[in-house]
Amino acid sequence: MKIAVFSTQPYDRRFLDEALLRHHPDGRVELLYHTGSLSRQSVALAQGCGAVCVFVNDVLDAKVLKALAGLGVAAILMRCAGYNNLDTAAAAKLGFFVARVPAYSPEAVAEHTLALILTLNRHTHRAYARVREGNFALDGLLGSTLHGKTVGLIGLGKIGLATARIFRGFGCRVLGCDPLPPTAFAQLGTIAALPELLAASDIVSLHCPLLPSTHHMLGEAALASMKPGAMLVNTSRGALIDTGAVIDALKSRHLGALAIDVYEQESELFFLDHSADIITDDVFQRLMTFPNVLVTGHQGFFTIEAMREIAATTFSNLACYLAGASCDNLVTGP
Ligand code: NAD
Repeated sequence: MKIAVFSTQPYDRRFLDEALLRHHPDGRVELLYHTGSLSRQSVALAQGCGAVCVFVNDVLDAKVLKALAGLGVAAILMRCAGYNNLDTAAAAKLGFFVARVPAYSPEAVAEHTLALILTLNRHTHRAYARVREGNFALDGLLGSTLHGKTVGLIGLGKIGLATARIFRGFGCRVLGCDPLPPTAFAQLGTIAALPELLAASDIVSLHCPLLPSTHHMLGEAALASMKPGAMLVNTSRGALIDTGAVIDALKSRHLGALAIDVYEQESELFFLDHSADIITDDVFQRLMTFPNVLVTGHQGFFTIEAMREIAATTFSNLACYLAGASCDNLVTGP
């Protein structure tokens, strides 16, 4: 069986090839790698394949799904946890087997969340550059002590809980909101309604999925209700935040700092080297001008352990599909 694997970089190929050798040393499964993403334009590359393997910014809308079905593709193996890029209703209607990797390393994303917060708060990125230039002045590097601060976590799933555990270790007061709060959170923090959480938190960190109901949940009104000077962190999905409203809140100085690993229009930019290009996304470029904004390019998941787990779970999902067996990681609905 051939599988068209989209949005692959050398590191994806390394971990998938290692897992392929382990799972299918007989050569029964062949991976056809594509650097570009799956879209209406590139879907023909899946010709002759029984499955496609995709990542966060591949497009799986009704048109692409219909085209895939027309090519004889019957399985979609997602190398990610979030599936906001998939039209679940269309996939179900067309009878696709769709499986994802629900938890490759919640701790990896939680640790990256903390890396962003600590860097932005203590300006270690600027200190690093200064010290290498022989500049040991501290002016402009003033941070605040996290111990004793209030942190609000929106979404208390695997990553939210892992983040809560780390913040507890820092001696922070942790507030959390989730329509289905897990019992495990009771030992880590206090459940709060979203308005209460936004008003009380020195740091607000997003860990909920992107759904129609959570799209732009951090918009003008929610941002205005945050504590003046608070930090907003998003390592979940870009469109949870209304970027235009965030820029206004930064300009008015109501929002104290912003750290993001995800961005609404990231599919145009992230995972590729654009250092010699002219970036035409003016909203992104505006964000880059703020000294109190830190952006990483969707690398929260990017650890050796998580990459191994993504590859291993992708192949165990494939094994379920090939055996016609039940699969714990099926994507069935919104
Ligand atoms: P999860 O499914 O374990 O948890 C999500 C939680 O969000 C659930 O408890 C759910 O009830 C809650 N939720 C749903 N709607 C909500 C709302 N309106 N308000 C508050 N909470 C709400 O998912 P997870 O593994 O913890 O991942 C969370 C998100 O992180 C994913 O959806 C994905 O978008 C993102 N993610 C990012 C990276 C990265 O590299 N930056 C990697 C993996 C996942």
